[in-house]
Amino acid sequence: MSTPAAAEQVPLTVMDNQDGELIEEMMRAVEMVARSGAFTGGPFVEQFEDDFARYTEVEHAVGVASGTEALALLLRALGVAGADEVIVPANSFIATAEAVVLAGARPRFADVDEDTQLVTAATVAEAWTPAVGGVIPVHLFGRTVELDELLELARSRGAWMVEDCAQAHGARHRGRRAGTVGDAAAFSFYPAKNLGAWGDAGAVVTDRADLADRVRLLRAHGERPRYRHGLIGTTARLDAIQAAILARKLPRLERWNAARRRVAAALRSGLEGCTGISVPPPAAAHGDHVYHQFVLRSPNRDRLRDHLSGHGVATAIHYPVPIHGSPAFAHLRGGDDPAPVATRLARQICSLPIFPSMSEGEVARVVDAVREFSAIEHARRAA
Ligand SMILES: *Cc1c(COP(=O)(O)O)cnc(C)c1O
Repeated sequence: MSTPAAAEQVPLTVMDNQDGELIEEMMRAVEMVARSGAFTGGPFVEQFEDDFARYTEVEHAVGVASGTEALALLLRALGVAGADEVIVPANSFIATAEAVVLAGARPRFADVDEDTQLVTAATVAEAWTPAVGGVIPVHLFGRTVELDELLELARSRGAWMVEDCAQAHGARHRGRRAGTVGDAAAFSFYPAKNLGAWGDAGAVVTDRADLADRVRLLRAHGERPRYRHGLIGTTARLDAIQAAILARKLPRLERWNAARRRVAAALRSGLEGCTGISVPPPAAAHGDHVYHQFVLRSPNRDRLRDHLSGHGVATAIHYPVPIHGSPAFAHLRGGDDPAPVATRLARQICSLPIFPSMSEGEVARVVDAVREFSAIEHARRAA
């Protein structure tokens, strides 16, 4: 039975279960791991680590259990401790701040630039205190942060910089891959990311051998050699099955990112001149955007979402509550809002569908629905 196209939803994203050919190939990878018995560590993990290091143009990649573990272990490897503060954006996924707490330190929330929705050297400098040991810029939605001034600021204050690349696999900044500008970077391969596993997975990348080695120790109980434990670690290894799947998907990542950019360009041109709606800022001249999300801004965001939902277009909010406003971090709240721009953005942002296989027809349906909303709002204001 076929449903008329107009009645079908345009989903926010499409997962691997929609791609029969990919499933077939991945199942062969899963079977190879199963038959080999090398479920943790071993050749599949090492192969993916080598491939991902080469792809990211970095010396070391260390596979770990998730993006959150990648951040937390990296912070521990950097020697972050109790009295330290770490600057994170107020408008990231909560994991960026959580990892700071998991490593035993305290997050400080930097506000973001109104246009790019990203931290800048200026917003980070404003959040700085003498206790700050480092900063974690997030290439949120896939758009690269302005890293030059930020790194200069960190270096001038003797601090480290770790890039949160969980939404920016394959992006470039001045020709270099995101994740290679600071001391190290954390990647997530959560299934919905630009490069996703079939469960939880992550990686740390760095040119610093000392950090890579320490993360390798921490992810597996500080063990070296077997049953000799030099430090307190945890269980946070990358599964071999996930590694085998990721190694087979990695060669497709450039193509998938290019497709995301094409979809973004089509959405952008389709929405040109749409009153009352702002499209996301394109990449900076020396930066990049891999469009993990395509985020609109509208003062009537909730009505926009209702309208799109009524026209079969899925939307989401990334994120409805800025991290510093969430109950989990209530204990850190003082008097004034440290990130008023992030707080305001959270009430106005709306993520549209974007995924590599999005068709021209699906793009047109999204564009038409947003344009219709804009026209209705315009008429309402004129009345
Ligand atoms: C997904 C994500 C993480 C955490 O990754 P997990 O693999 O889900 O633990 C961290 N930071 C950002 C910006 C993310 O989007």
